[in-house]
Amino acid sequence: MRLEDLPIRDDLRGRTPYGAPQIDVPVRLNTNENPYGPSASLVADLAEAVRAQAGELNRYPDRDALALRGELASYLGHGLTVERVWAANGSNEVLQQILQAFGGHGRVAMGFEPSYSMHPIITTGASTEWVSGAREDDFGIDPGKAVAAIEEHRPDIVFLTSPNNPTGTALDPEVIAGIVEAAPGMVVVDEAYFEFARTGTPSALTLLPDNPRLIVTRTMSKAFAMAGTRLGYLAAHPAVIEALLLVRLPYHLSTLTQTAARVALAHGAELLGAVDALRAERDATVEWLRGRGLTVADSDANFVLFGLFEDRHAVWRGMLDRGVLIREVGPPEWLRVSIGTPEEMAAFRAALEEIL
Ligand SMILES: *Cc1c(COP(=O)(O)O)cnc(C)c1O
Repeated sequence: MRLEDLPIRDDLRGRTPYGAPQIDVPVRLNTNENPYGPSASLVADLAEAVRAQAGELNRYPDRDALALRGELASYLGHGLTVERVWAANGSNEVLQQILQAFGGHGRVAMGFEPSYSMHPIITTGASTEWVSGAREDDFGIDPGKAVAAIEEHRPDIVFLTSPNNPTGTALDPEVIAGIVEAAPGMVVVDEAYFEFARTGTPSALTLLPDNPRLIVTRTMSKAFAMAGTRLGYLAAHPAVIEALLLVRLPYHLSTLTQTAARVALAHGAELLGAVDALRAERDATVEWLRGRGLTVADSDANFVLFGLFEDRHAVWRGMLDRGVLIREVGPPEWLRVSIGTPEEMAAFRAALEEIL
């Protein structure tokens, strides 16, 4: 029995699953993880919190994760409260729930590429048509062209990633506001990397009060160094949260997930301290790459897109041979490196220097 022999949905035939390589090498700079593991005190607090919960695992978790959502609202600020925040297992599940509630057969979702590959994958997985809009040469979005594309395709959902993955580009809130005004449906701003943005970069959260069809998603996978916990969340109008309640699985967020996320939030100041170090390392990496004569996209994220390589696969392979795993992603001649510790970035520079 092969996959092709199964009575699988026609629109899934011939597709390949999402798969960044998980290769065991000394320096892994390919999935934008935070290189700094949790501190000893966070680990101790987490172990204690889990111990306290363990005796009650015969019970279902708080189905609405109210305590966690309230704490996420406080973290986000902007006057947000529990009824305007929603959480799920990674922002990928949050995005899937948005598709389940606002997409579906006969509906259209649109994004501006190059951008996060999971947006089209989750869209088509929800039997929704994907329309790809284009970004400019500097990876920004031209507001006039974006509005024209929206008027042409009338998408039910528009995805905007800011800062964008894999380019690192942050969007001006005025561009987002113009798109929200033109869009007939929901607009999702994926802010997975917001905490890494350069000082003064405004969040799309500032636009929420005036825009009930706007959704801003965030994650604890990157800045909060909790990729293994699987916790993503969003802020939106309370009516949007009510829509998501219709499609979420009962008790989707386990007691252990809620507990781990709450402990991490309590250690927020410490975790965000490491973000400052990563931002400095990112800026130094951009400068070093430019100093080597390479083309580098401005980055407001914890990774850098650089090129241009006629044979980027050979460069990627050469880096891997030297124990450094980066990502072959984005436009054809570019490569992406996630920002690691100073030692990891030194290994990255040494390996690239050899190849160049
Ligand atoms: C990494 C990433 C996410 C995070 O996904 P999780 O499911 O929360 O781990 C979301 N959006 C973008 C653009 C990302 O790069």
